[in-house]
Amino acid sequence: MSKFSSGDRIHLVDHKRRQYALTLKAGETYQFSGQKIAHDALIGRPDGSMVTLSGGKKMVALRPTFGDYVLKMPRGAQVLYPKDLAIIPMWGDIHPGARVFEAGTGSGALTMALLRAVGPDGVVVTYEIRDDFALTAAANISRHMNPANLVSIKKNAYEGIDLLDDKVPFDRVVLDLPEPWQVVPHAAVALRSGGIYVSFVPTVPQVMRTVEALERTTVFGMIETFETLLRTWSVQGRSVRPDHRMVAHSGFITVARKVESGVLGPMPESEDRGDENLARTDETEEDLHS
Ligand code: SAH
Repeated sequence: MSKFSSGDRIHLVDHKRRQYALTLKAGETYQFSGQKIAHDALIGRPDGSMVTLSGGKKMVALRPTFGDYVLKMPRGAQVLYPKDLAIIPMWGDIHPGARVFEAGTGSGALTMALLRAVGPDGVVVTYEIRDDFALTAAANISRHMNPANLVSIKKNAYEGIDLLDDKVPFDRVVLDLPEPWQVVPHAAVALRSGGIYVSFVPTVPQVMRTVEALERTTVFGMIETFETLLRTWSVQGRSVRPDHRMVAHSGFITVARKVESGVLGPMPESEDRGDENLARTDETEEDLHS
């Protein structure tokens, strides 16, 4: 596995860390700004090898990480950024063996993050309404991993969520589509009690409608919304500082848990959940007894 073979997807990385994707095929040649390298010069080399192109340019050949793969794979729909792909499986508690419903498939980036998290004993069911996006996603996914436990369906998630033939409800529902509030009533039925709902939307009005819809069902509690900001740093000798540029906005993630109603309704306006996630041990006597 650590040596490249024909058919492998690899990335060539230059001195500025720019990455170029190619799929190795015996007998073919890769061209890069007027310089060439035979795929046969890469096949059989170990992951991480340095290679020299015809004009002398040196590059490193690597198997892409999942995050690098996602950023370079062909896109139909805009993919989620690695920072969101990393946090959704954690906050959604996507665990080995879980049954997960996802919509829409888009380019398949989130689908792959979910497949990695559920492992070979889990299942991911994904809905996509556009054929062209579904095809791009299928190619992206099968180029990177074995999609044996993926069920891809062409269907409008706003119209409902079908259970699999065994009629067992889903453990998790994960949504990245424009109007998740239209799926919320279906998620309320398709999720098992204790199951977790996660959705990602780019704008505040979408968050508001989503949370309203979750509250209206009365079966969702512990609703929380957050965003992630990833700030990378430049570390060069004594110049250690944040990078000048960052992705300042991608979207808001809303998480909720399906529970029996009566206890975990929305927080009263006057109470501030403030630092709950930072300092869970800070409860006062009053908090514990209220
Ligand atoms: N998370 C994906 C990107 C999803 S983009 C990724 O990481 O690659 C949103 C996708 O939802 C688009 O492909 C769009 O066609 C699809 N979509 C929009 N409305 C939908 C609906 N009602 N049912 C199913 N899919 C839908």
